[in-house]
Amino acid sequence: MPQLSRRAFAGALPLGLIGGTFLGGSVLGGLAAQAATPKATREPVSVSPFAQIRIGRFTVTALTDGYADMPYDYFPGRSAPEVEKAANAQFTARPSGVRFLFNQYLVEDGERRILIDAGAAGSIGQTGQLPRALAALGLKPNQIDAVIVTHMHQDHMGGLVLGGKNNYPDAEVYIDRRDVTHWTDKAKRSGAPDFLQPSFKMAEEVVRLYPKLQAIDGEREITRGVSIIDLTGHTPGHIGVRIEDGGKSMIMVSDMIFPVVHPAATDVFFLFEQDQAAAKAMRDRFFPQAASEGALIAATHMPFPGLGRVVSDRGQMRWEVADWALQD
Ligand SMILES: [Zn+2]
Repeated sequence: MPQLSRRAFAGALPLGLIGGTFLGGSVLGGLAAQAATPKATREPVSVSPFAQIRIGRFTVTALTDGYADMPYDYFPGRSAPEVEKAANAQFTARPSGVRFLFNQYLVEDGERRILIDAGAAGSIGQTGQLPRALAALGLKPNQIDAVIVTHMHQDHMGGLVLGGKNNYPDAEVYIDRRDVTHWTDKAKRSGAPDFLQPSFKMAEEVVRLYPKLQAIDGEREITRGVSIIDLTGHTPGHIGVRIEDGGKSMIMVSDMIFPVVHPAATDVFFLFEQDQAAAKAMRDRFFPQAASEGALIAATHMPFPGLGRVVSDRGQMRWEVADWALQD
């Protein structure tokens, strides 16, 4: 099964990996059927993938809005050839850079449905799949009770305001106040580089279209077992979400970890990080802590479903992929 999954994920997303995999075995059957088909060029089945885990009373479903390949020169702290070499060593090099997934996480406890992040929604790369992924679960956006936005970069909030509309009409929206302040500051917007302009524009739309937006001040519980943790650095109000129940936990850490370069080093950044000293300080603190706790982590841009752990091998940090099938 892991081999089949890896093979399937190696192709272009979205592939025919639906959550029914481990529930009904349909994917195994599907792949076997594909293998038996004489035409090797058969089009991939276009179904949004999802993966589920259980954290106590919560069901956490990883969904993905899509992907984009980030050029090798988007990682300050390392030269483009260095990043490409690292990607090659990990067998993940793409012709046009490092593949970033855009993963979102749906947290359900039978009472509330909380979505963590809303995806890039077509504003970057091959994205815009989240609504279809939700539909595959039988959900419409108006059945989402809350959206926690980990920070106001376009790839985390685009889905909220796609088409200039409020796309999650019944959701409470939670965003750290430091990000709301930063990304709606006109002086900061006019001084920002072009590649950050879409985020400033979307931030303004989010504030305008979601009048009940709740700006978060510091670490707090959103609902029993769902808490905000402060991971400032990547942006001023970059936050994570801890899901905890029945002695189990998971931390959605958003952009603390980028593929290929993290967690092996903390002095390498992503282009969108404006305050590199702050980003480094948080990773210096977080990676060893995550390793010593063995925390189950969900990370936006890691290969789908983005679940893993930071592991320390004689002081060298590496990412260890976690199992993701529903289990008790
Ligand atoms: Zn991001």
